[in-house]
Amino acid sequence: MPIFDPDQIQVPVGHFIGGRLQTPAGAALEVQRPSDGKVYAALPVADEALVDIAAENAWTAWKESDWARCAPRDRARVLRRWADLVEAEAPRLGVLEALGSTRPVRDAIAWDVPFTAEGLRFFAEYADKLGGEVAATRHDHLGMVIAEPYGLIGAITPWNFPLVMVSWKVGAALAAGNAVLLKPSELTPFSALRLAELAIQAGVPAGIFNIVQGDGRTTGEAITRHPRVSKMTFTGSTRTGAAIMSACALHGPKPVTLELGGKSPQLVFDDVRDLDKLAATIAGAITGNAGQVCVAGSRLIVQRRVAGALVERIRAIFTGHRPGATWDEDATLPPIISAQQAARIAAIVERAQAAGGRVKCGGRIVDGGYGGAYYLPTLIDGVDTANPAVSEEIFGPVLTVQTFDDEEEGFALASHDSYGLAAGVHTSDVGRAMRAVRRIEAGTVWVNRYGRSADFVIPTGGYHQSGIGKDLGRQAVEANLRFKSVLMDIGSPQ
Ligand code: NDP
Repeated sequence: MPIFDPDQIQVPVGHFIGGRLQTPAGAALEVQRPSDGKVYAALPVADEALVDIAAENAWTAWKESDWARCAPRDRARVLRRWADLVEAEAPRLGVLEALGSTRPVRDAIAWDVPFTAEGLRFFAEYADKLGGEVAATRHDHLGMVIAEPYGLIGAITPWNFPLVMVSWKVGAALAAGNAVLLKPSELTPFSALRLAELAIQAGVPAGIFNIVQGDGRTTGEAITRHPRVSKMTFTGSTRTGAAIMSACALHGPKPVTLELGGKSPQLVFDDVRDLDKLAATIAGAITGNAGQVCVAGSRLIVQRRVAGALVERIRAIFTGHRPGATWDEDATLPPIISAQQAARIAAIVERAQAAGGRVKCGGRIVDGGYGGAYYLPTLIDGVDTANPAVSEEIFGPVLTVQTFDDEEEGFALASHDSYGLAAGVHTSDVGRAMRAVRRIEAGTVWVNRYGRSADFVIPTGGYHQSGIGKDLGRQAVEANLRFKSVLMDIGSPQ
């Protein structure tokens, strides 16, 4: 049963510059719905000249509007109003999000939109909390460290959670008093435009939050290089993150926050108590959004005594999934974002098999009855750490299984040569859980759970090739501030 008719939904198309939607003629990309592969809109591509106009406009707005200078609580009030407007539009925004992304509409309405709104509220609360500090100097000196916004922040966001990712990047930057020039993923470009319209309604001054559409090579690179952009923030692949960081070095240098790839382990010890509950947690951590999640738990590392029983339960959950469009009420597995991305998943699984991996279920693309590309939840065992399914980020619903006997072996398998984004540890032994926390090199370790919560105060970000800096938490706001040192002689009159 369809929850909405995708052919009846109008999307806002264009760039958002100077507080209004602009639809220039010129080069355009075809945008497809991942659920059925249909082209449903044309996306204008902002070239270097247009990015320049947008950046200069944003810079002027930042200099001339009150955004950076107003009472921080006024800025917070505007951001909270924005959050309220977003939440009030959950049904409409949720449909807009689901139409062209991999987010099932029910989840988009019940989770993505409220999470987006709450993220904005969370950052709003920091607007007047991070002013800097008074330094401990000698008595006849007064030292201050004053927190100031950078000015214009460039943001490039991915396609896997289009609205939520915008709220993380833009919310933190705006709360700190910056202006933002955003390029959403060209695969999911439209819901951000509605967010920008609502920002204006809430009272964000025109020109403070801007969106330019386009691909990475043209629009993304032009943003990164632009001299008015003082800092970049990006979420996506490690390869693209490295390219952006190089460009930041060459065209600044300017700082960069990178939230990149992962190959996160789910480490299970044989003292766990409830295998049914655990199987559901582990399966959910790799099939949610069809595994297209940076922190997806893609490597099951399980102590031998419980391996067979646990894997059998996970296999049963995997084979019970029903792929289908984001607007299909009965579907439990959303599409892969594009046919190319599905082919990429299939190619890694083929290489994994060639290297000795055994596919226990799934392992193929289906069209879900809609004409999209859906990848069936897949379990692969018989793999070692060199197997491509273990070493490479797949970004699909593919779980590898490795077994171990003693704790040390488990910890060693949980580590990864390249990535360190997140990890899950499941055990009823608190000491063992804390030993795992100490040993695993990852930006986040979840114990007896898997996945982020609504505790926005906990930052997210990776070690090693999984990134630099944090989204969420106080740290995300601090990353949008620079610090000015002031030292005064106050010992005697001048
Ligand atoms: P990429 O990281 O390759 O691209 C993300 C965005 O950056 C796209 O809009 C891309 O544009 C743009 N871009 C590419 N090159 C540059 C550049 N030199 N300067 C500025 N912007 C650039 O993600 P993909 O969508 O291609 O997915 C590939 C893989 O990335 C996935 O399989 C997954 O492993 C990982 N990924 C990780 C995410 C995460 O949450 N950490 C989210 C999404 C993907 P264009 O497509 O035109 O090149």
